[in-house]
Amino acid sequence: EDDRQAAGLRRRVGIMGGTFDPVHHGHLVAASEVADQFGLDEVVFVPTGHPWQKDATVSPAEDRYLMTVIATASNPRFSVSRVDVDRAGPTYTVDTLRDLRVAYGEKTELFFITGADALDRILSWKEADQLFELAHLIGVTRPGFKLSDAHLPADSVSLVQVPAMAISSTDCRERVSAGKAVWYLVPDGVVQYIAKRRLYV
Ligand code: ATP
Ligand code: MG
Repeated sequence: EDDRQAAGLRRRVGIMGGTFDPVHHGHLVAASEVADQFGLDEVVFVPTGHPWQKDATVSPAEDRYLMTVIATASNPRFSVSRVDVDRAGPTYTVDTLRDLRVAYGEKTELFFITGADALDRILSWKEADQLFELAHLIGVTRPGFKLSDAHLPADSVSLVQVPAMAISSTDCRERVSAGKAVWYLVPDGVVQYIAKRRLYV
């Protein structure tokens, strides 16, 4: 990345927002694949504070933050931001992008990475038009998904197909609660953290 900056190129940073309750290999594969395809210098994982679209059964923000740190620690291009965890009130993506824009400076190009499920609803988000000005939008989808399925303008969003889309946090929580294993769906350290903190039982 020093070479890139020496050559006068802007730093390219991906932003992966999520509840991460828990973070799983679908998230990690998606971030890695997008970083590769878009030549990103860094991907920042941003666990939500209180997610406005989900109810109160979400695990404490500090647990979700720490699991995300554990899961990303070994990758030099992955980092975790506390902007949403530390901001009071519900989490809105437009606030996340504004905070990270300030933190990374005007010279950084931001790429907001989101799953196809959220792409469908993005126009209903707070200040949706602002989102497109603050960051490029990258939708991660399962093979076969078409942009027309999301009713978004084709030039505002790029699509990346990822192979691990079938993994979900909901399924991981249900497995733990049913006494089933989550090995290989989430990183080993996250398996151990879930057990240590008795999450989802
Ligand atoms: P839940 O089942 O609780 O909704 P989730 O697995 O969808 O959880 P989130 O924390 O809601 O995880 O997702 C964070 C971001 O990652 C979202 O943009 C979501 O669309 C995306 N995402 C979720 N699962 C995958 C996956 N398997 N592959 C790629 N992206 C994913
Ligand atoms: Mg989800």
